[in-house]
Amino acid sequence: MGYNLTTNIETCIVEIPNLLFYSHIPTTAIVLAFSLFVFLQSKRDRRSGALLLLISLIFLAWTTFDIVLWLTLDGTLMMFLWSLFSVLYVLMFVLSLYFTYSLLGERGRLGVWRKYILFVLLLPLIILMPTTLNLTHFDATNCEPSEGILFVYQYMYGALVALWTISLVAIRFFTAPSGSRNRILLSGFAILSFLLAFTWSEIVGSLTLNWELTQYGLFGMPILVALLAYLVVQYKIFNVKLLGAQALVVTLWVLVGSLLFVVKSPTSQVISTATLIFTVFSGYLLVKSVKQEVLQRERIEKLAKDLEKANVRLKELDKQKSEFVSIASHQLRSPLTAIRGYASMLAEGSFGKLPAKAMESAARIEESAKLMAISIEDYLNVSRIESGNMKYSLSDFNLRDMVDNICDDLRAEAMKHNLILLFRSDIKSRGIVHADVGKTSQIVHNLINNSLKYTPKGSISVLVRDDVKKKRIYIEISDTGIGMSEKTLHTIFQKFERANNANSVNVSGTGLGLYVALKMAEAMGGTISAHSEGDGKGSTFTFELPLAM
Ligand code: ADP
Repeated sequence: MGYNLTTNIETCIVEIPNLLFYSHIPTTAIVLAFSLFVFLQSKRDRRSGALLLLISLIFLAWTTFDIVLWLTLDGTLMMFLWSLFSVLYVLMFVLSLYFTYSLLGERGRLGVWRKYILFVLLLPLIILMPTTLNLTHFDATNCEPSEGILFVYQYMYGALVALWTISLVAIRFFTAPSGSRNRILLSGFAILSFLLAFTWSEIVGSLTLNWELTQYGLFGMPILVALLAYLVVQYKIFNVKLLGAQALVVTLWVLVGSLLFVVKSPTSQVISTATLIFTVFSGYLLVKSVKQEVLQRERIEKLAKDLEKANVRLKELDKQKSEFVSIASHQLRSPLTAIRGYASMLAEGSFGKLPAKAMESAARIEESAKLMAISIEDYLNVSRIESGNMKYSLSDFNLRDMVDNICDDLRAEAMKHNLILLFRSDIKSRGIVHADVGKTSQIVHNLINNSLKYTPKGSISVLVRDDVKKKRIYIEISDTGIGMSEKTLHTIFQKFERANNANSVNVSGTGLGLYVALKMAEAMGGTISAHSEGDGKGSTFTFELPLAM
């Protein structure tokens, strides 16, 4: 190889550090195990997994060479392995940079030209590796080869790549959304500490020449590789977290366990044994609790997903239902108008005088068609309300006069059923409201009609009153009808809800009128409330709206 081995290496009697095997073998085994595990598990981020494995293989080569170097007395082998170190060193830095790019996300992988620069700068190190520019000769005083000029280049290259890595992490950190900053910071910290632990022996060794101390750097490696492994698989299924906890615990066991073979004094051995027992016990508990948490979280996650799916499906179904009701109702309306029109003409004798029975039947057809039209209108309104398509056109009008007129209109109907319909007003304002005329009239009609339907005998009194301070106007419709129980009062404003006693008086209801009326009142800034002393004791419905003053 052209080295000038002027000194007889055999005279170099080196004392093997106590920690040599302990710091090299278990740490390397753990680092390899972690990265292999991540490589096999990380389906989401294969590239980072593969890079971590590659880094670990370089680490394996490094520790193997180091052990051989401590043990061998073969000068040529020694010089050869030493010369390889410089390449391993820079490769570790380059791979770490590559890994940082991969870990920090899709944007800006290490592009072609960046790879090219790194490779070109690496070439002199590889080409000149076996020359005296790398290692000049074997230094018998320190029992190690003397470093040539190439070492300066190697350190500069390492420093450049380290700076590159730091600035990459910094840029990513400042440009990332705040949610992912912690992850970037942790990744940067882990990668840089990893490089520091790796170069520890170089730094400490060259500064202090204390080779015992240099061994400690290696202990940092498994922990940092574990951290990197965690970052690679972090956002994957929780199972990986469990495996991570297990791996961590096993690492601890191996490290503490192998300590038993290193320490010699009885006190240290007792302490190590006690620590091992404690670690085994606490590790077991840790894994158990993580397992429980994992299972629980998985269950909750699954449940939440199922619920979300069911919710989407329900919303879809609800929408379809509303659409169906709307289409069906529209289709029914026009034929019904024709039926009503012709039945009414027949009943009125527009096509000539009919026998009494036929006239009566025609009148029934007209009445039924009218009820059906009301039901259809209710269904249509429900579907409009639920799909958010109910339109309101607001204007100022006199509510007191409107209610007065409606009472006049319905009085004949009341008399047909031997009921008295009274109207009273007690207002201090002019009774003007800002609302939808048609919808307000529909609500008042609906409430008075209900009183007519559910009052077999007696009277219905309608009172309009206001509260100027509160700027509200109230229409109270009280009847002497079938009344309602406390329980029924709570349900009548819901869709399709009818009291048990309702069928005894009026079979044709749909249970939609009050629901629609309340929704419309609310949309206009008002409300409707119901009150009754109980079954058979009459009811009072109060419809209120804001006064426009
Ligand atoms: P419908 O009258 O078509 O059944 P509504 O939504 O208008 O539907 O009313 C819901 C229920 O409230 C009625 O079925 C009835 O049980 C009760 N109800 C409404 N108005 C009165 C009233 N004035 N007196 C007693 N019960 C009433």
